[in-house]
Amino acid sequence: MSDLSRFHRIVVKIGTSTLTHDEGHLNLRRIEALVKTLSDFKNAGRQVILVSSGAVSAGVAKMSTRRPINTAEKQAMAAIGQSELMKLYSRLFSDYGHTVAQILLTKDVIDQPARRAAAEDTFSTLLGLGCIPIVNENDSVSTEGLNFGGNDTLSAYVALICHADLLINLSDIDGLYDKDPRKFPDAKLIPEVRGIDESVLAMAGGAGTARGTGGMATKLLAAKIVLDKGIPMFILNGQDPAVLYEILDGNRVGTYFTAK
Ligand code: GLU
Repeated sequence: MSDLSRFHRIVVKIGTSTLTHDEGHLNLRRIEALVKTLSDFKNAGRQVILVSSGAVSAGVAKMSTRRPINTAEKQAMAAIGQSELMKLYSRLFSDYGHTVAQILLTKDVIDQPARRAAAEDTFSTLLGLGCIPIVNENDSVSTEGLNFGGNDTLSAYVALICHADLLINLSDIDGLYDKDPRKFPDAKLIPEVRGIDESVLAMAGGAGTARGTGGMATKLLAAKIVLDKGIPMFILNGQDPAVLYEILDGNRVGTYFTAK
């Protein structure tokens, strides 16, 4: 594996199933560990952009309601949950002396050159100011055609517009396996993948968990988006966010995706 100390600007994506307990409430111990680790990355001189899911789940938990069934309900829960999430991130990061900044995106920002340039400038200015941008899809106003189809894809585009050196996808699985480890106990973790082709895509299996939207397929498509632009990606198990240190120490964890 190549020298990992060169990764200066890092996008970290964390999914709903990693951020929340099974009933949907925020997993505070895990979020605190994530914030502490990312704060330490910043203290060590790296730039960090966090792509965080969990808005809909946090909204549902806050309102003690059932899972939203239609788009309007989901969008309302996202509006409630997003501010809950940011309140928590802002407080925890500021305990470590860091300032966060919220950016909510829809796909048209990526597709329209003028808006994309504006977003690039905003990220670059925030990073120059030493802030930690926290990004989510603007779920409350996003509609079919404007949405990214989940935060795995969103995180790949964020890595592009931030000109990141590395994308890390913190998931509820250790990485890419040669077959679905939930069904096959003899499945083997693949430590390194060079390029995304049909044989890699075939290992993806089905969709993710009940609360998250992703699965391995969307993670591999995200890997393809960033690898095409020369940005490598990791999939790691985010159960213990301190696993992020392993990467920067050059240890082998998860699956490392690199261009052919
Ligand atoms: N943006 C959604 C949320 O914050 C999650 C989408 C995803 O996890 O892919 O709840």
